[in-house]
Amino acid sequence: MKWYLDFGHGGKDPGALGQNKTKESDTVLKIGLQVKNTLEKSNEKVITTRQNDTYYSLDYRSSKANKENCDYFISIHMNSSTNKTAKGCEV
Ligand SMILES: [Zn+2]
Repeated sequence: MKWYLDFGHGGKDPGALGQNKTKESDTVLKIGLQVKNTLEKSNEKVITTRQNDTYYSLDYRSSKANKENCDYFISIHMNSSTNKTAKGCEV
């Protein structure tokens, strides 16, 4: 299978900020590169939008993904909230 992993945000767009000013863009990059590594160890083909802290527009991301004709498109993001009781995930 061929995967397209889009690590959200990057560069001038940090995404959500954690309570210690942790940037969503940095966290999803780290998670995404681990997912990429795991998939490649299983001989999966992986294309990514970025592999460093660089900004790419949504148009660029979707165009690149469509040109690659992947089986899966996964865009990795993380949310934040000022409500400290908020928990969970969304897909
Ligand atoms: Zn996001």
